[in-house]
Amino acid sequence: MKIHLIRTSDFSDFHFEDVYNLLSAYPGAIQFIQGGVVELPLPSGEKVFPSSEEFEVQEKVSIVQESISQRSFFMDRKQEYIKPVFPYKKSFFEWDIFFDVIKQYRTENEIAEHDLIFLLSNQYNKNNWFAFIDDSLKNVFIHTDDWPWFFGLNTDIRFPISYEITAWILRSLLFRNQNEIIDSFHNPSLGCVNDFCLNKKEITLKMRTADVCEECMQLIAHRDLPPHYLNQLFSIIDGIRSNLMFRKRVGVVFKDSRIKPDLDSKKIYFIDFGNLAVRLNPKEISLYLLFLKFPDGLALNSLSDYQKELFYYYHQVSGRASLSEMQNTISLLSNYLEGELNTTISRIKNKFKLELGEEMAKNYFIQLLPNGVHGIPLNRELLVV
Ligand SMILES: [Zn+2]
Repeated sequence: MKIHLIRTSDFSDFHFEDVYNLLSAYPGAIQFIQGGVVELPLPSGEKVFPSSEEFEVQEKVSIVQESISQRSFFMDRKQEYIKPVFPYKKSFFEWDIFFDVIKQYRTENEIAEHDLIFLLSNQYNKNNWFAFIDDSLKNVFIHTDDWPWFFGLNTDIRFPISYEITAWILRSLLFRNQNEIIDSFHNPSLGCVNDFCLNKKEITLKMRTADVCEECMQLIAHRDLPPHYLNQLFSIIDGIRSNLMFRKRVGVVFKDSRIKPDLDSKKIYFIDFGNLAVRLNPKEISLYLLFLKFPDGLALNSLSDYQKELFYYYHQVSGRASLSEMQNTISLLSNYLEGELNTTISRIKNKFKLELGEEMAKNYFIQLLPNGVHGIPLNRELLVV
């Protein structure tokens, strides 16, 4: 089964890729695909939340009909969530507008009928829901904004968004139609994946327990869902839960993640940080791999002695055809007297800090070690090759 993730442009490509990486970290028969960007038509109207109380409620819908935010949150990677000020006015879209856009994407891209498509968007939906599915149970919209409102300002929004996607895949497998889904929601919340969370704040409970109640377990058993799908979905849910808990504790007990460099994608994956990834360019990843190889570090003015190793890595990742050009790049990079080496080291450092934050990045980038040479302090037992 394939799950296509698509987005509107207000949901940044950084976060989009982060969500994709996280979900793809749990391989199995369910395959995630990074789809494209879609455009929405004009909003359906505007809505005013007089206070936070209304803002925090998923409005009840009796039965499913056939049927632009004023803030700009995700400006860049260092996005800051700006809390809404009440009364807060926002534009919203009817659910069907989201579903129509997804259906159009499905047709235009010839997506198989049984594949699921998830539209990730910061735009508000009419009833202020986290997400919903259309009557085919194959098209889902996910609201990607406002997670810091519920989980705190430092929330890594990949986790709740990926959790929602996973929960909706489960629902699409488990239920036969929209009515069944709505009827099966738990209200009040039980700490089950199937909680409705009328008060949206309850979602933090649901994700931290990451549990399935007895009643839902029985339904899952009764409906005979494919075990390999279930295993994969529950490992994602468990992974998200442990990450949320880990992050809660991170200020108290710091723990480094394992890392896995991947030459094909030129990324360093942080396995225990939900597969977060830092993308390096060919020069950066070559230099990084060299330093990873030497736990005791290397003197910067001795790097020209390691040109062979650097060339070996660079040759694999650069994609350039000319050997002499590659040689030139490497001899420039390894020359202590040229500015190239320091620039590259400092770019790597910035990329790690940007992705992980100052505190979590500190053992991963190339820096001056206590023994007086440059290296990466990371315990090499955490290196996965
Ligand atoms: Zn339940």
